[in-house]
Amino acid sequence: MTRSEALREDARAMQDELVELRHQLHRHPEVGLQLPWTQETVIGALDGLGLEVSTGTALTSVTAVLRGGRPGPAVLLRGDMDALPVQEETGLDFTSEVDGAMHACGHDLHTAMLVGAARLLHAHRAELAGDVVFMFQPGEEGWDGAGRMLDEGVLDAAGARVSSAYGMHVMSAMSPRGQFTTRPGTLMAASDELRVTVRGSGGHGSAPHLAKDPIVVAAQLVGDLQTLVTRRFDVFDPVVVTVGSFHAGTKRNIIPDEATFQATVRSFSAEARDRMRAESVRLCESVAAGYGLEVDAQYLDEYPVTVNDAEHAAFAASVAAEVFGDERYAPKVFPQSGSEDFSRVLEEVPGCYLFLGASPDEDYTASPNNHSPRAQFSDEVLSDGVLLHAELAVRALDRDAAAG
Ligand SMILES: [Zn+2]
Repeated sequence: MTRSEALREDARAMQDELVELRHQLHRHPEVGLQLPWTQETVIGALDGLGLEVSTGTALTSVTAVLRGGRPGPAVLLRGDMDALPVQEETGLDFTSEVDGAMHACGHDLHTAMLVGAARLLHAHRAELAGDVVFMFQPGEEGWDGAGRMLDEGVLDAAGARVSSAYGMHVMSAMSPRGQFTTRPGTLMAASDELRVTVRGSGGHGSAPHLAKDPIVVAAQLVGDLQTLVTRRFDVFDPVVVTVGSFHAGTKRNIIPDEATFQATVRSFSAEARDRMRAESVRLCESVAAGYGLEVDAQYLDEYPVTVNDAEHAAFAASVAAEVFGDERYAPKVFPQSGSEDFSRVLEEVPGCYLFLGASPDEDYTASPNNHSPRAQFSDEVLSDGVLLHAELAVRALDRDAAAG
């Protein structure tokens, strides 16, 4: 039996225990950076493997290092573990037991897959040409858990900087079940926030000339930001601005002192992001000044662009196609406008992030999307996710060890 055949057989044999672990995690979703139950469960699931396990300080992360049988570099595999503040409406028999929290983004599958990969690679550790760092990360959903784990040294957990890093996300409505997909270069958007307060001077609604109306200026800015996008940015290096929150006033005939709004800004290159950071603020300041009002416009960086190194994306694509067959891999034509804090890891070391279709429905386009209270992810993909993680690590170590 070849090494790949043995890995495949051992991954398949884990399927039942992976389903059980995933259902346990699904019943106990935790949100944010502090996931004590999840952390304890992961540590328990790794028990007996003799991994070098350490936990986070600023967050309940788990970092586990597996030493391979042969000397060599280290590679990193990452799984995020946090849930969302969503009230589950799936009706599944392993539905969330926590009011107002749900694994609506499939991170319960990621956690179970990474545990499975640790067990599988441990069983095959004699064949590994180096070490594997398992990064169990809280707080992906807007908490920058990855940034905090980098600050606490996850990339150097094996003693030297990892040579490459891989991660994967299950998607309920993006591609057919069991299909892997990724692309070289930009995979996901940068996500930032624009926070604006227009300060005018309140007065009577019948006499706006005696006041300085902040609502009119703020409303104009909402439209002007869309014009900025279409007139100042290359359509092939796009930007998305959505004002999702706008607040002002109390009654129809009262002009208020202030109007505030918040926008999410998505961009797909560092250059577009830098320009948007400067130009969106300048636009707000210039338009407000034109009407004689003051404005406080702040551009707050959240997650950077997720960029796959071209060689590592080609490598990951070839691993997926070789292990599962050509029909199970489809190149991703366009980037996703979602964002991901694994981008922080890929800013530091080369690697690749992939997607795995996990819709329970034959027609995935009809499935509720990730983050929906009705989003569902099929257990069927669990052992394949484990196998892909393991094959990526095994082959990346062979590759990086050979490269010296
Ligand atoms: Zn997610």
